[in-house]
Amino acid sequence: MEDMIVYRLGESCDLEEVEEGKTYLGWVQGFAPFGIFVQLNNRIKGLVHKSNVKMQHSERDPIIVRVIQIRSNGNIDLEEVTPTVYQTRNVTKKTAGVLLSNIGKKIGRTVMIEGEIAQIKQTSGPTIFTIVDESSTGNAAAFIEAGVRAYPEVELGDIVALTGEVMQRNNQLQIEVASMMVLESEDAARVRERIDAALDERAEPPDIPFLVESEVLEALRPQMRQVAREIRKAVLTSRPIILRHHADADGICAAVAIEQAVTSLIRESGGDFDAEYFLFKRSPSKAPFYEIEDVTRDLDFALKDHARYGQKMPMILLMDNGSTDEDIPSLKVTRIYDLPVMVVDHHHPDRSVDEYLIGHVNPYHVGGDYGITAGMLGTEIARLVNPVVEDQIRHLPAIAAVGDRSEAPERDRYLALVASEYSEDDCRDIALALDYEQFWLRFSDGREIVKDILNLGGDPVRHEKLVDLLVEEANRAIEEQMEAIMPHIESRVLPNGVHLFMLDVELFAHRFTFPPPGKTAGEVHDRLIRDLPGEPVVTLGFGPDFVVLRSRGVMMNIPRMVRELRTEIVGGGVSGGGHLVVGSIKFVEGMRDAVLESLIQKIGEAPI
Ligand code: MN
Repeated sequence: MEDMIVYRLGESCDLEEVEEGKTYLGWVQGFAPFGIFVQLNNRIKGLVHKSNVKMQHSERDPIIVRVIQIRSNGNIDLEEVTPTVYQTRNVTKKTAGVLLSNIGKKIGRTVMIEGEIAQIKQTSGPTIFTIVDESSTGNAAAFIEAGVRAYPEVELGDIVALTGEVMQRNNQLQIEVASMMVLESEDAARVRERIDAALDERAEPPDIPFLVESEVLEALRPQMRQVAREIRKAVLTSRPIILRHHADADGICAAVAIEQAVTSLIRESGGDFDAEYFLFKRSPSKAPFYEIEDVTRDLDFALKDHARYGQKMPMILLMDNGSTDEDIPSLKVTRIYDLPVMVVDHHHPDRSVDEYLIGHVNPYHVGGDYGITAGMLGTEIARLVNPVVEDQIRHLPAIAAVGDRSEAPERDRYLALVASEYSEDDCRDIALALDYEQFWLRFSDGREIVKDILNLGGDPVRHEKLVDLLVEEANRAIEEQMEAIMPHIESRVLPNGVHLFMLDVELFAHRFTFPPPGKTAGEVHDRLIRDLPGEPVVTLGFGPDFVVLRSRGVMMNIPRMVRELRTEIVGGGVSGGGHLVVGSIKFVEGMRDAVLESLIQKIGEAPI
């Protein structure tokens, strides 16, 4: 006859490892009138009914018991057995490890998870660890004392093995940590390798065609996939994303498309219920470049969140800005803190920025131009980040194209794509409403208002009412501005035949209201060119220390003009840029006449 096997239950084992019919070694825990309680380990207790007790016992005596049955409420019925010969065998927790993506099926059970610590948040109650494994993101709560950091030896980025019970709280899965251990050397390397390999695969964007036919977009596909891949990777590893964008209709469309894709991907991939708020931040920038003020603010918040909430340092995505020399001072700041930066832009790029970037999408790199707007690029990249948002965002490129006055063939294709729902006039209205509302939002993103303006808020009636009202207000403000300024416009014809119009937006326009100087000059320019069909026209709107340029039919290169002015006019303090034929230039107030005179001379020499 074979020896009987007596099992010894390990400390981390729970009910899952106890089997009916098997025999276990336990100890006597206490006595009741109807029998004795027996512990199988420190967590699991059963009852031997007095009719099944074979011997006399005192407390803490070892005892061998057979499991008669496990009731549905978890109570265990035991009987005492007294084998004379037996072997003991250890039972360890059945933890080949569970994937975070599977814990929904394990509610109420103990699981073992191996993964990387992506965030450590101390609440007034437990410490919440966000953990990332090869399948998903999850939260684990560990408690020693209210508000006291549990497992202080565990740090951001550590690879850990944790066990705990899966709980459901407020519709969210959470693991209540029973034990957590930082893995070292080979163990850590093995887990990290597994996570990295899976991550590369999970971060890979889908292979889908663009919404419209476009040679330029096709040529940009590798760079667009690279940006989408990095965004997906950031989301899947709980790295926060800061999206900086130009505060105009095109920049907003680009950024909101990405916002939709990223927030939905965050929701899909688990983690905290409010993760979409602290893992994604959208911030409009007034200037068409990443200003020192912006990077300083971003860095300030990122470092505080890192110190206070144990967040990873963010990835920065610049849209409708970020491609030029003017961005370099801010990019140098990001490099000191090792922040990954990516740019999606259609301003004429300078090669100098590329050494600071891990991704750069710009139509000029592949022979395209500003006609491929940031909103087009942003929407197509958003689809690569998360294709499920396509239906919500497919009208954004048309709005961006109209808002940014694209003349590329893609403009009409994107308009045609949504023509049954949005006419070109609708798109123009929405673009104007965005510009107008952003003016009053200033540095705020207005996440929910902007969704209503773009008809992503799920209430088309409100969308229509809101856009109508904003357009009416914007047009009234523009009319007031035009009434004030039009009588003060000076004009002349330059040697190359260019009609030059000049307006002093400081003296003859309402200040600190909508439309701001750039838009005022643009509006004036649009009205004046209507009366000069086919003629080359340049409009300059200037203040004490700046000039904005709008042009038609003149082959200018504003970034180059700025470079020349900077060297030619000593003490002019010239800076600026923008697109080739639309832009703005800053200078010191005392040198305005010299700068304007020299600028006008250059415009007068430009080919028509
Ligand atoms: Mn733009």
